[in-house]
Amino acid sequence: MNLSLPTINLENYKSASQRARVGTESWGSSNFFCSSCESPRLEQASRNAAAIDFVCPICHSTFQLKSQSKPFGAKIVDAAYSEMKRAILEDRTPNLFVLHYDLFAWTVRTVVLIPKFAFALSAVERRKPLAPNARRAGWVGCNILLGKIPQDARIPVVKDGTPRPPSEVRHAYQRLRPLENLKAEKRGWTLDVLNAVRALRKTEFSLSEVYGLENSLARLHPGNRHVRDKIRQQLQVLRDLGLLAFRGEGHYGLR
Ligand SMILES: [Zn+2]
Repeated sequence: MNLSLPTINLENYKSASQRARVGTESWGSSNFFCSSCESPRLEQASRNAAAIDFVCPICHSTFQLKSQSKPFGAKIVDAAYSEMKRAILEDRTPNLFVLHYDLFAWTVRTVVLIPKFAFALSAVERRKPLAPNARRAGWVGCNILLGKIPQDARIPVVKDGTPRPPSEVRHAYQRLRPLENLKAEKRGWTLDVLNAVRALRKTEFSLSEVYGLENSLARLHPGNRHVRDKIRQQLQVLRDLGLLAFRGEGHYGLR
């Protein structure tokens, strides 16, 4: 993987944001590989495919690329809120590459892959509608809240200027793949409990420690008054998916 962004054909683009989009997409078409199968490359999608920038020529998995010159903060600006919400519920969100490049060195610094099955509605924030005097007045966009995506599902592809071997990226992706079998509306709770458990920053923990996170989980799911029951149920789901192990007597281990 060569981390220098291409420079040819960029002189035709006037704005810095256009050059960045064309440069990073062109870089992706020669450096991205499929995380879902063994394909060593991804093809650029046709311009009119909404929210899809790359397609795997072998397994047809779809990928979106979001690039920015600033290091990642807590949020990534995404497309229309209603579209994103519908895409999640209908299970048609693409996998997402989030890329941070160095504008001056014109190189790729960081790429994180978020598998399509790691998106839950709790990770999507509705933005304020555009002001009445805006060109698209009333349009409502959304932010993807990176902190609400479980740490396991923010898979590094390039970390601080160092590419990771494709085998490791594919392994991390396949590990979470059982989540694909859960219905999108149920996946929300599972991902939120996984995220909460990871936030304990322990590989071994007890049920009472997870109960300690009850309030923050309740805030993500207003209207659910049986949060502790839900926590126990989701710990079982995570065990069945192979992401957790039960140690007995209310103790658990991360896999
Ligand atoms: Zn593939």
